Amino acid sequence: MKRKRSATDEATIRVPLFGEERELVCRVRLGRRALVELLPAAREISRQVAAVATDRETARGRSVSCRPGCAHCCRQLVPVAPIEALALAKQVGALAPARGQAVRLRFAEAVARMEELGILDRSAPPGRLALQSVASPGTAAWEDVSRRYFAAGVACPFLDAELCGIYDERPVACREYAVTTPPALCERLDPRLEAVPRPIHTVEALAGAGAAVAGLPGAAVPLALALEWAGAQRGGARGTYDGETMFWTLLEQLGTVARPGTGSAT
Ligand code: SF4
Repeated sequence: MKRKRSATDEATIRVPLFGEERELVCRVRLGRRALVELLPAAREISRQVAAVATDRETARGRSVSCRPGCAHCCRQLVPVAPIEALALAKQVGALAPARGQAVRLRFAEAVARMEELGILDRSAPPGRLALQSVASPGTAAWEDVSRRYFAAGVACPFLDAELCGIYDERPVACREYAVTTPPALCERLDPRLEAVPRPIHTVEALAGAGAAVAGLPGAAVPLALALEWAGAQRGGARGTYDGETMFWTLLEQLGTVARPGTGSAT
């Protein structure tokens, strides 16, 4: 079936959340699409799941303590999916010249700081993603570099007066992160900090979808490296892909299923 480029369709999906399956509805963009056009569906799924997780915490007497102007978490090493890194680069490219220059400078300063901290190899070419851990290899690596990065107090390049400068376009990790403990624990990344549980892993799923559809790296990009990494991409990252295929690939990565007879992205 031939569809117009502007066409979207609605899909009902089932997501296993906290031991039960929930139905969520989201829009699917049909036809040939750039990779970044998968983000609205991913964000919508993430938003609905986060609402369930937050309601569950509230029902247990634990309310979210995050407030505007509290941005300790914006000094963390935020993971973004490669598709999100492409979107952030596009976002910066669309800024007014002076603002764009200021944001690019902040990105460059954050990357330089990562090099000074020994988190990044100075000699690696643009597009580098390997982080240098001083902990044991494997999963501990991200945690180790996260702690060293946070201790250095490097603010996100998008942070303005402790508010997010790209709030409506912020990465999924920023959307999903919420805590129920006092801000003082966030300020020192205290191990007693309690985050609202994430029953799905949208960043990882988006990374997996980008890898499966376009051959992008299957792992997250540190937000501070997003511009440098995106600027080094050619080929698959710049291509267009079938919107339905991207959507279903994302669902596979999320471990969700379409409700029989109602998944309308056909
Ligand atoms: S994108 Fe916005 S919310 Fe996310 S770390 Fe940066 S300033 Fe904070």
